[in-house]
Amino acid sequence: MNASASIQDATGNQDQQRLCEERVAKLARAYGGLNGLDLLAPMIEKEFPGRIALSSSFGTEAAVLLDLVAQVDPATPVIFLDTGKLFEETYNYLALLSNHLGLTDVRTISPDLVRLQGSDPNGNLWESDPDACCHIRKVEPLERVLTNFDAWITGRKQYHGDLRLNLEPIEAVDGFIKINPLVNWSHEKIQTVFAERKLPQHPLVARGYPSIGCYHCTREVAEGEDLRAGRWEGEEKTECGIHRASWVSGQ
Ligand code: SF4
Repeated sequence: MNASASIQDATGNQDQQRLCEERVAKLARAYGGLNGLDLLAPMIEKEFPGRIALSSSFGTEAAVLLDLVAQVDPATPVIFLDTGKLFEETYNYLALLSNHLGLTDVRTISPDLVRLQGSDPNGNLWESDPDACCHIRKVEPLERVLTNFDAWITGRKQYHGDLRLNLEPIEAVDGFIKINPLVNWSHEKIQTVFAERKLPQHPLVARGYPSIGCYHCTREVAEGEDLRAGRWEGEEKTECGIHRASWVSGQ
């Protein structure tokens, strides 16, 4: 890419971010203070009809948000990132939960094969450079698909800590509008909803996994440990990068 194209891209990204921030400010005025179904329903039905998608890992808490989305509209697109490194149990849970909730538009997306052949031909990039591995296997595929939508529903919660502590229910990040309906929900509330709605649990929960990602980068957690202590053990890394600022530009 030449320098002038790069400047044009940067200017375009700034314009896009400014537009998103203006839209988010309006949404916050209209829906500030709402969460859960109260926030989700107007986003799906009124603000972004046909232009909003949910990204889900089908992890330990995913069923709660998927259930809320299904209550509003089970045809809402659900983006499932298949990194090629997921537990077999996650694929089984995807099928079970989609069927249980009646989801009709679950879209599985995968990393670009040419990118994998070029940068991770042996499938072990996670050992030497987990950030690069996450970028190729998660960030890039998600970026490609989300450009087809105006808003993106996520299941992030403040109680998970770290970068999520100061999350807002509606935010503008890197030219995307993110809706976080569970932003202020606690672990206890999530568990209560699981029981009330009779939602099936991910099979690895019973084996001591409170947070589940790729099998190379996830381990069981002992009692008393942080819920996310089993992710990227031994690394400073705590996030896969899909919610980090500037991910669109690949930084
Ligand atoms: S979680 Fe691990 S294996 Fe999965 S994409 Fe990231 S670094 Fe690679």
